Amino acid sequence: MSTTLTRQSLTLSERPKPRKATYFVQTWGCQMNEEDSEQMALYLEQIGLTPSDSIGEAQVILLNTCSVRKKPEDKAFSMLGELAFVKRARPDTVIGVCGCMAQLRAKEIHQRAPHVDFVVGTGNLSEIPVLVQEAMLNQAFQVRLDLPERSGAIVSDMPIRHVGREAKLKAYVPIQYGCDKFCTFCIVPTTRGRERSRPTADILDEVRRLADTGTKEVTLLGQTVNSYGKNMLEGKVPFSELLYLVSKVDGIERIRFTSPYPRDFKSDVIQAIRDIPQVMEQVHMPLQAGSNSELKRMKRLYTLESFSDIVAEVRESIPSCSISTDLIVGFPGETEEEYQGTLQAVRDFRFDGAYMFAYSPRPGTPAGTWDDQIAPDVKKHRINELITLQNGIMAEINQAQVGKEFEVLIESQTNKNKAMVQGFSRCFRLIQLEGPPDRIGRIAKVKATKGLRAGLVAELI
Ligand code: SF4
Repeated sequence: MSTTLTRQSLTLSERPKPRKATYFVQTWGCQMNEEDSEQMALYLEQIGLTPSDSIGEAQVILLNTCSVRKKPEDKAFSMLGELAFVKRARPDTVIGVCGCMAQLRAKEIHQRAPHVDFVVGTGNLSEIPVLVQEAMLNQAFQVRLDLPERSGAIVSDMPIRHVGREAKLKAYVPIQYGCDKFCTFCIVPTTRGRERSRPTADILDEVRRLADTGTKEVTLLGQTVNSYGKNMLEGKVPFSELLYLVSKVDGIERIRFTSPYPRDFKSDVIQAIRDIPQVMEQVHMPLQAGSNSELKRMKRLYTLESFSDIVAEVRESIPSCSISTDLIVGFPGETEEEYQGTLQAVRDFRFDGAYMFAYSPRPGTPAGTWDDQIAPDVKKHRINELITLQNGIMAEINQAQVGKEFEVLIESQTNKNKAMVQGFSRCFRLIQLEGPPDRIGRIAKVKATKGLRAGLVAELI
């Protein structure tokens, strides 16, 4: 849906040229949102804006919101409240709300925060430059909320991405948008629309440009990334084939991807991880719950047994591969037995990492309307117990790495000790080691000397 309350059409020459204006993009949520924010920054820089370090000083403020849980929505509304004071003090400030909450709650945003100039959903990012320019001319509140109703290929209207922006050692490359799975707890198919894949040529072009500017590691992003390539105009391109194609780009030394959907995680992808040197030995595969009855209510299209088969095949084919996951406790109707099933799955699979959440009902999802919601104190108890269990397992796994050798891409100095640098191993363990900052950007061979809960300390070999 596109709504324009009052709108005159402006020719390009009539639009303001915000040569000295600055912008600030505040981001909540997942890597896809981070990537969208990069895209927004690129659009704003194309019309002459420059980044500001401070939200309070920027002339154009975009809030890129998340609706996956209630907390980031509350934070966005709280920030909108604070921005009312900014707008009062500096009426020429342009405020836009983008992302998943924008897609879902445009009317409410306008009612609760009338100082917002425009609301843009996830499918209309390319309209941001025009909306900013029109807001600078005091156009009325505008809304853009178009999403494709069908799965298929993306007819890409993106500008050339990453060009003219700061060079990056690591970069996200979106390859697929939206989702067709409709899990009963998830709002993503509503906020991001049906599943669409980017043309392979566009992806490879972007990876080449990144490599030319010094990027060594790319992470291919998609809501269900291994569903890439269906319904494309150029014909089906399996995800495993895309991994081979990206690995042929000169200069790209590391390839990761997130997040695969378990049902579609087939042997060809496991073989690609095993056989392509640039593809890192790391799989982040969301389990969500440890019982088939709960998985069924979540409308996850796999069973505990089929998930277990994939884990076994990955571990047999690639023993050094780490496996991490996402877990939810306190889903509506979750019995003590189902919850114990999740704890047991965590003990059995011994994940190398996990994002763990207490279920938060989302308006617009089936599970959000069910009346067997779990009491907050039960959810709190369950999430605390789950986190304690998983943290203990991670500490044991990391302790068992002491004495092993790893290859680390050194990315930054550590926060606490400037004599230390850090980066991730091929299997995505965070590794810290002594060393000067001039090691940043290099791949080093190290040996682990100490296991921490959240990573390893190592020394150069
Ligand atoms: S697979 Fe399920 S949880 Fe993941 S984005 Fe799609 S609907 Fe949401």
